[in-house]
Amino acid sequence: MDYRAVTHTTTDRQLGRLPSGRDVSVTVHRYDGGSGPTVYIQAAQHGIELNGPAALRRLHDRLTDAAIAGTVLVVPVVNQLAFDHRSYMTPGEYDVMNPNLNRVWPGDVNGSLQEQFAARLWELVKDADAAVDLHTGTADMLEHVRCRADDPAAEGLAEAFGTAYRLTDAPKDTDDDGSGRTFRAAAAAAGIPVITAELSNSRRIAEDAVAAGVDGIHNLLREQALLPEEPESKAAQTVLRNDAEPVTASESGLFECQPDIAVGDTVAAGERLGTVYEPASFEQQQVVSATERGVIFSLARESVVVQGERLAGIARPR
Ligand SMILES: [Zn+2]
Repeated sequence: MDYRAVTHTTTDRQLGRLPSGRDVSVTVHRYDGGSGPTVYIQAAQHGIELNGPAALRRLHDRLTDAAIAGTVLVVPVVNQLAFDHRSYMTPGEYDVMNPNLNRVWPGDVNGSLQEQFAARLWELVKDADAAVDLHTGTADMLEHVRCRADDPAAEGLAEAFGTAYRLTDAPKDTDDDGSGRTFRAAAAAAGIPVITAELSNSRRIAEDAVAAGVDGIHNLLREQALLPEEPESKAAQTVLRNDAEPVTASESGLFECQPDIAVGDTVAAGERLGTVYEPASFEQQQVVSATERGVIFSLARESVVVQGERLAGIARPR
């Protein structure tokens, strides 16, 4: 391999134009070394997910002094509008059709505002040899990486990233909501090995989550032989299949979780997870039970719930 001292450049990439005529652009960092693979990394599709950009700043410090074989493309804040607004999704006024940037990939140059954004970013993604989408879950989600099951290249990335849990899904439903238009689904469909990392703790910088992010990417770059060192062997990942039926609210109300239930717990089918109450009348609306045996990887703690909303995600050990 051809390891050479990194040349770092930044460019502003124009993504689209707001109704006022103001352009929206993002900063793209490019780290070039000798010849080798290209890895694309992005963060902050959701505006409150801050540990990704923080991890990428630390990665920058490591890469600028490194010798690499290949190219690393980094977009620290892909969704500037949501970031500035400090909201999870893009404010609906900007794009009534598609407020969630992570449901429009690979985008459409003639589509809604966010579809245009995605399409212009996709030009950077489409020739990559591997891609990483950094997200941050709530405090009530297990830190994990997601990838397709039975996709050895993606599973190699996930293993190298090295969080304690790996959540896999079948190619047919390689999506968080079944729409098939997440970044991960689009990249996988284009034949690009891809992982989504869900670091812990949105809305704030959590140093352990930032460390997990930067160490994970660093090891992934070693696995790609973009960095000369051998990848560190991480502790064995617990692999979970994301195909269990989610636990949802059958009634709207206030969800009170069983006090002894937490993410990471293994629960039995039918085990009680909590109760939905009507807050004004105190009436019990729903006894919430585990749909099947598995590990709880997400749990609703923002307790006002509407009918149909997910209360817990359960995944089966593979
Ligand atoms: Zn996210």
